[in-house]
Parts: sequence; structure tokens; C-alpha cells
Amino acid sequence: MIPYGKQNITDEDILAVTKALKGDYLTQGPTILEFEEKFASYVEAKYAVAVSNGTAALHLCAMALGVNNSSKVITTPITFAASANCIKYCGGEVVFSDIDAETYLIAIEKVKQLIESNPKGTFSGIIPVDFAGRAVNLEELKKIADEHDLWIIEDACHAPGGFFIDSNNQKQLCGNGKFADLAIFSFHPVKHIATGEGGMITTNNKELYHKLLELRSHGITRNSEIFTNSLDFANGTTNHNGTYPGWYMEMQSLGYNYRFTDFQAALGISQLSRAEEGISKRRAIAERYTTAFKEQSFIKGFSNLIEGHAYHLYIIEVEDRLALYNFLREKNIYCQIHYIPCHLMPYYKEQGYKEGDFINAEAYYKKCISLPMFPTLTEDEQNFIIDSIFNFFNNK
Ligand SMILES: *Cc1c(COP(=O)(O)O)cnc(C)c1O
Repeated sequence: MIPYGKQNITDEDILAVTKALKGDYLTQGPTILEFEEKFASYVEAKYAVAVSNGTAALHLCAMALGVNNSSKVITTPITFAASANCIKYCGGEVVFSDIDAETYLIAIEKVKQLIESNPKGTFSGIIPVDFAGRAVNLEELKKIADEHDLWIIEDACHAPGGFFIDSNNQKQLCGNGKFADLAIFSFHPVKHIATGEGGMITTNNKELYHKLLELRSHGITRNSEIFTNSLDFANGTTNHNGTYPGWYMEMQSLGYNYRFTDFQAALGISQLSRAEEGISKRRAIAERYTTAFKEQSFIKGFSNLIEGHAYHLYIIEVEDRLALYNFLREKNIYCQIHYIPCHLMPYYKEQGYKEGDFINAEAYYKKCISLPMFPTLTEDEQNFIIDSIFNFFNNK
């Protein structure tokens, strides 16, 4: 069976986890901080906060930015539902905006029109998604966001190691925090770095960083500089030395238990050390697919070969997608569809969205299919996939 995506666990990974399990901590130990520092440096951000999964990362970001029942937040309909749901968790309203038919990313021009056609102050923020591994041009998006005082949460789950080239010809890595207030990643097994469950938030904003650390663990702080209760109360006596006692902590806001564990962090560190190797393997796979498909009239569109693409997914667009999907399954090739447009999920339809709202996203959904794409996919397996697709179209 060839799935569309798959983790790669090596002997070194297993050793790293075993070592962590034999250490003093199972959760909230020093390995988490080490993973956070290494991950931050990998994406060239100042701070990183590891959390229990990518969805928790999104939820904490929305909380840290103060999303509430008067917030309206813009995102793409072609994403995993969690990108939008985090706004609903905080009581806010999700406003979808259509994709670009060629890049499959949220169309920045349309976001601009949407913002400008509404009264000032209508929106609070934007959640762009580096869909399939292709980086959103956040420099362009940030210009619009800044003009209208909006924050940006970059959903970079598909794109650790991905980048775009800015107007000064500089590489801007996904999650580097230069153009987004916060960025999030997931370590689910199908993603580039796998830790079972897991997520990461990166930022260059120190205040948000501290807020996130607090929210990750019940809203509890141990930083005595910001304690608000009195020393007498904290010590339980007036007879104290003017410092807070060793046990003291304060719950200052309503947080969650979204903690990551030390042994997952050990796996994360080990996986991260192979991240670049993984991306170059993904690129080689993408090049082989593109070479095979680019002259074929049965291919209506495909993931472009562009610099900085992290190739979480390799997508082709075809007519007769359903039959192709079933044909490939018969051959034990398990493709996937990314994604059913989020605005047409029954939950979002209840909020007023309907078919016809976003023509590019809906047209894309009718044809898209994600082919197997993961670093350990062999050349033989890939040839088998390509041959099977040619067989399907040539014998119709
Ligand atoms: C995987 C994913 C998430 C959620 O991550 P989990 O770790 O599964 O909670 C969010 N957004 C996108 C785009 C994703 O691909």
C-alpha cells in the first residue's frame, strides 16, 4: 500500500526517544526547551513554544491575540478546518476569501478587496495558509494588514523549511516572524516532522511568547515579577523575607493543558536534524512528477516547481478525478483530496456559506488529487504511480 504521506522513523529517532524516557522528565523537561530553541533557529524566528498539536497551537494564537465574539478573521477555504475553527473556539466569526486558481493560496488581491469594501475596523486578523508547502507572500499580505491594523497568524503546517523571495531578493522562511505576528506548525505523522501529535508556535514578539507559555499550561505563571497577590498572602504570614515562597504560582488567565512531552521533543529534535534532507527528497519527487505530467493534456493543473516550495503535497488537477482515485486505490495507491472546501462543511454552511460563494476553491475541489509525496517514496514506487495514471488516461 502506498499512502499519500507517511512518517519516517529511523533507529536514531528510536534511540533519542529511549534516552529521553530514561531521563528525569516525561513532560515539561529540558528537552522541550532544546527542541523549541532548535526549531526557532531552523525557521529563523526568535521564540518557539511547543504544544500538544497544531490545532492547540492555532487556538492559543487566537487567544493570545485576543480573538473574541466581536472579532472577524479572514482565512482561505482550501485548508484543514482547524485554520478556521480556532476563531470559532474564541467566539469569533470566520470570513473566507477565495484562492488563486494557479497557486491554490488565498488570493491576496481578493483579501485586499474584501477589507477595502467593508467599513474600517471590520476585521481583526488574517490566517493565511502555506498550502501544500508553498509559502504565501507575507510581505505583500503584511502591507495590507498594516494599513488596516490587522494581525497575521501564518498557518505553516505544510511548510517548515519553505520560503518565499521578498522584494529585496531575500529568502523569507515560513514562520520566521518577520511578516506574521505568530506562525504555527504541526508534527502530525503526515507532516514533515513527526512526533505522533505535536505542534509549535513561532514568533519574534516577546510579549506574545510569554503569554503563550502561560496559556499552554492553565494560564499559570511562575514569574514573580508579574505576580499580583501580596507577599503576605502568598507566604501565608507577615513573617517572611520579602520574597515569594518556592511553591508560589499564580493563575492569571484561563489557559489550557496544551503541553508537549519531553520524549516527543526528543523525537522532534531527531526528526528536525533530517528536515532539509527530507525537503530535498520531496523536491526530487516533485520534479519527477512534473516532468512526467507537464506535456500531458489530461493534466489540467499541477503543483508548480517554484523555489522555496516545501512540497508537503503534490497536487494534480484532472477531469474524472473520482474514477482516477478509485482506479489508483485498486492498485493500492491511496491518494487524498486536500481539501473539501471548508466553507461548504455543514458546520460553516450553517453560518451562511453556500455553493457558488468561492468559485476558484470550488472548481479546484472538483479536480484536485494529492499524489503520494513523502521522503521515503522510492523511485520504483513513483514510476508505478506515474505509469498507473498514464494507464488510466490512455485506456479510457
Ligand atoms: C495538520 C494541520 C493543522 C492541524 O494540526 P494538528 O496537529 O493535526 O492539530 C492545521 N492546519 C493545517 C493546514 C494542517 O495541515
